[in-house]
Amino acid sequence: MGKFPEADAEIKATFICRRCKARNKRGVAKCRKCGSRYLRPKNKEIKAKKA
Ligand SMILES: [Zn+2]
Repeated sequence: MGKFPEADAEIKATFICRRCKARNKRGVAKCRKCGSRYLRPKNKEIKAKKA
């Protein structure tokens, strides 16, 4: 969970193409950019950088 509920909702509804890394909406069967079916959910946890 991040700071902004709106952003969280958007991240949860985002899928990333494993091939070209384009963002796709949840529910799409294929990547809008390259047509690949290899999609993954966008990482929900953003890890803070450590020195
Ligand atoms: Zn793609």
